[in-house]
Amino acid sequence: MRFSYIWLLVLLAVTSGNLAAGDSITTPLHIRVLATHDFHGNLRPVTYDWSNKRPVGGATGLKSMLDDLETACRCITFRIDGGDQMQGTLESNLTQGVPVVKMFNYLELDAAAVGNHELDWGVDTLLARQSEAKYAWLAANVYRDDDGSRPVWAKPYTIIERDGVKVGIIGYTTISTPNTQRPQTTDPYEFRSGYEGIRTALDAVWKEKPDFVIITAHAAGECKDETGCAGEMVKLANELPAGSVQLIVGGHAHDYTNSVVQGIPIVRAGAYGQGVAVVDLYRSTDNKVSFNTSNEVPYADTARPDPVLDKLLASSMTEADTVGKRQVATVADHLSSLRDGDRRLGYLIADAVRDSGDTDIGLQNAGGVRADMLPGVITYSDVFRVTPFGNVVMRLAVTGRQIRQIVEQAYTDDYFSNLDIVYGTDSADKIRVDSVTFSDGSPVKDDGHYTLATNDYLVDGGDGMTILKNLPSTATGITVLDAVVKKLSALPSPISLPVRKQAGQK
Ligand SMILES: [Zn+2]
Repeated sequence: MRFSYIWLLVLLAVTSGNLAAGDSITTPLHIRVLATHDFHGNLRPVTYDWSNKRPVGGATGLKSMLDDLETACRCITFRIDGGDQMQGTLESNLTQGVPVVKMFNYLELDAAAVGNHELDWGVDTLLARQSEAKYAWLAANVYRDDDGSRPVWAKPYTIIERDGVKVGIIGYTTISTPNTQRPQTTDPYEFRSGYEGIRTALDAVWKEKPDFVIITAHAAGECKDETGCAGEMVKLANELPAGSVQLIVGGHAHDYTNSVVQGIPIVRAGAYGQGVAVVDLYRSTDNKVSFNTSNEVPYADTARPDPVLDKLLASSMTEADTVGKRQVATVADHLSSLRDGDRRLGYLIADAVRDSGDTDIGLQNAGGVRADMLPGVITYSDVFRVTPFGNVVMRLAVTGRQIRQIVEQAYTDDYFSNLDIVYGTDSADKIRVDSVTFSDGSPVKDDGHYTLATNDYLVDGGDGMTILKNLPSTATGITVLDAVVKKLSALPSPISLPVRKQAGQK
């Protein structure tokens, strides 16, 4: 359930301690921060169950809401994004994020964190988008392996002075980036954790004597009733010198949070433009900082039309429509993308990859299944949302012994086509692979010669699949997306897939 239909003042907290500047001021200060994150290319509104099918977000919805929140405050406002802006929709991906940067420029964004998915198309593409952006794209904790300097695409911070108030904004990119991005992209860089990662940037920002310091972080972390406070941003917040940072805008995790760690609010409004976090920061004349945080839903059906914005995005919308509206199939059931869901969608992709590679077995990583398929007509655009990364199907020759090693290196919730795997636990209670057979029960012989199809992300060593990286492979030239489209088209509609349990999975 969402709790943000109304203007809701969730927290009012007062933290003592010194501000970065430490200088006394004569009049109290008030700024408002409007924060988004994990937009993932959603230039069009999205409908949700929690919104009672009302359209939420989209470029127009966000623009209207941000402007309203700024006008209502009549205060100095900063617009900050927590990263992962571009990857995820046809509208954005057909031109590798171009319209999303246009949108955030038009939304007058001040700064964004570099999200892990900003690296999906490689560093050159990110640099091209950064050159188009009018906002600062920040990541203070990324360093080059060779000389320890910061890469050009990872500007550490920006200082913005607006109507006499000076704000320092520091970026942070999750240390899990090398686990989710192609090694060929991330290998030259080190993603340093916590305060140590941003220390020099924070020192430099302090020297500028800002009134407020904000971290925009593409990294998870929050406080929950059940689990307490945990995650990368909680660690960072706990390590920061007292009073040195007044707000952390979060990202990477797609859900809402409104947490406070060491007196520092950590906010996320929800992914895909479904929310705007609103943080009012105050500084009193005796150097006390306080804040209000709330969350707003930018309903698109009540947003003000914006012909200028529409025109700006028109060519991207038209192109995506042409490509995306093609009907592929009809499915009978809701196919979940969740790792712990009924898993039919993941196996469908693994089967499709195997078919297109014409191999003995197929492999699809669980993290690459990005959206559900809902019952009814499935369009090319729907399939795209499930597998948006543009990965291509690769073919590998493997021995039975190597298949077993691949299974051992894979996550237990990855999807193997035509393999039955039984997991058990060893004496130290660690999960181990007990047996691997083909789905018809025939054995996988250690010295047998077989073929495997999977995606280039895993073949590049993604998800820690070092064994695949070291095996010779050939590209089929078929994308995973097109493999799934072909598979769906070939099945009789409406498609009803049998539930297939992960063999031996506890
Ligand atoms: Zn992310």
